[in-house]
Amino acid sequence: MKILWIASEAFPFAKAGGLGDVSNGLAKSLKKVGYDIRILIPKYDWINSANYNLELVSDNVPLNKENTFSVWQSFLPKSRVPIYFVESEVFEGADIYEGDEVSKFLFLSETALVIPQVIGWEPEIFHANDWHTATVPVFAKACHKYSSIMSDKRFILTIHNLAFQGPIPLFEYESRGIESSAIKRFVDEGDSARALRLGIHFSDRVTTVSPTYAREVKETKWGFGLQEDLKTKGDKFVGILNGIDFEEWDPVTDPSLVRNYSAKSLEGKKKCKSALQKELGLPVDKSVFVVGLVARITSQKGFDILIDALPEMFEEEIQLVVLGTGEPDIESKLLRASGEWEDKLAVFLKYDETRSRRIYAGSDAFLIPSRFEPCGLTQMYAMRYGSVPIAHRVGGLADTVFESERNQTGFVFENYSSEDLYSAVFRAFCTFREKRVTWTKLVTRIMTIDNSWESRIQSWKELLETLI
Ligand code: ADP
Repeated sequence: MKILWIASEAFPFAKAGGLGDVSNGLAKSLKKVGYDIRILIPKYDWINSANYNLELVSDNVPLNKENTFSVWQSFLPKSRVPIYFVESEVFEGADIYEGDEVSKFLFLSETALVIPQVIGWEPEIFHANDWHTATVPVFAKACHKYSSIMSDKRFILTIHNLAFQGPIPLFEYESRGIESSAIKRFVDEGDSARALRLGIHFSDRVTTVSPTYAREVKETKWGFGLQEDLKTKGDKFVGILNGIDFEEWDPVTDPSLVRNYSAKSLEGKKKCKSALQKELGLPVDKSVFVVGLVARITSQKGFDILIDALPEMFEEEIQLVVLGTGEPDIESKLLRASGEWEDKLAVFLKYDETRSRRIYAGSDAFLIPSRFEPCGLTQMYAMRYGSVPIAHRVGGLADTVFESERNQTGFVFENYSSEDLYSAVFRAFCTFREKRVTWTKLVTRIMTIDNSWESRIQSWKELLETLI
C-alpha cells in the first residue's frame, strides 16, 4: 500500500514538538511492516541540502499560473523512508509556525496532489496532519482541477492538537480553485472556514493521538467547537496512542549522555544526574530529588499551576530543571522564579535536543502538568530513561501514566490545581526519599514498558485495512 504522509514537521529536518517525532517514528515503523510510505514537508530555510544529502528531483514545476516550486528528495536517517521537500519562496525567511501560515500551508497541501506525477509514484492514501495539511482532501475533492484524477484516492487526517484549527478567509480557498459551494456549509462567522474542520469532513478517516483524547474532544470542554463535527464521523474517528522511537531514544546507546545505562544497571544514570546538576549550576547532591520538565512554554503545558506550586515545592530538597521556549510572559515568570531560587530552579529558554536528552536521563522524576494533552511524548521518553512521570490525568497522559498499586508507572493528579500538582510531587518525593527499594523497582519497571511504535502498529494496520 502506498501512503503519502504530508506534514509541517518531520524530525530531524524540522521539529517544533511532538509532530516532528511522530512523522519520523510512525513512518519508519509502517515501512518496516511493508507499507510504501513517503513523507512530504516544506523545504524550510535551514534545511541545508548538503548536510542532509538532499537531491534535486525537479525544478520549476508549475502549480498554477503564478507559482512554481521545486522538489528535493532524501531519506529519513537510518531508514529507507523517502522524504520529499517542496521548495518555494513562500517558505522562505520564517520559522515553521511564523510568517504567512495560510499561504505556506495551503501551498504545501496543494503540492501534495501534484508531486506524485513529478516523482512518478502514485499513492493510494494521502495522510494529512493537523490544520496545516488538512486541506489536502479539500483540494482533492472540491477543486475541479484535481477531483477527477483524485476520485479513487483515500484520505486520512490525524489531529495532533485540536486547539489549532487554522481559520482561513473564504476568498483564500476560492482564489486557489476550491469551490465555495462545496465548503459553504462549514463557513463560520466572518466568512472564514477552519481548515481543520474542512479536513474532518472531507477525510475518509480521522484519527487522533490517544484513545482518551478521542473521547475528550467529543465533549464541549475539549472539543474547541468541533465536538459535533467529530461526532458525525462515528466509527470513522478513532484514537490510536502514539509511540516513541525505541532506537532513537535509548539510554543504552544515546551519545548525548555522559554515561550510558540500562534498566539492569542504573550506575550510569547516577552519573547523568550529577553531571546534569553540575552542567546547570545546581548543587551536586544525589539525595536531592531532581525533577525535569521539557515542553513548549505555552498555557497548555500547565505552567500557571506549576509556578503557583513552586514556593511549597522548594521547601523540600527538590530541584527543578525546565527546558522550553514559547510565550514571553510565562518565560519571564520562570526566569524571575529562577532568580529567586537559584539553588533550586534552572530554566533554559532554548530549543536544545541534546540537553533535553540529558534532562530525561539525569532527572529522578519528570513533570507533565498539562491542562490538556492530546498524547504527550515526553512522559514516554522519561519512562524510557528511568525518570518517573508525574502527570495530570488527561488525554494521552491518562493512557500511559498510572498510579495504581499493581500497575504503577508514575504519579498522577486528577484536578488541575497547584495543590493537586504539589501533592503528586510530594508523594513522588516521599517515595524517593523514604522507600528506596520501591522507588528503584518503579524506575526499573518503567524502563521496560513497551511504548515503542512497533507496539502500536497493529492498530494502524487495522485502520489502513478498513480503507481498501
Ligand atoms: P507537543 O507536541 O505538544 O509539543 P509532545 O510531548 O508530544 O508535546 O512532544 C514534545 C517534543 O518536543 C518532545 O520530543 C520534546 O522532547 C521536544 N521538545 C519540546 N521542547 C523542547 C526544547 N526546548 N528542546 C528540545 N526538545 C524539546
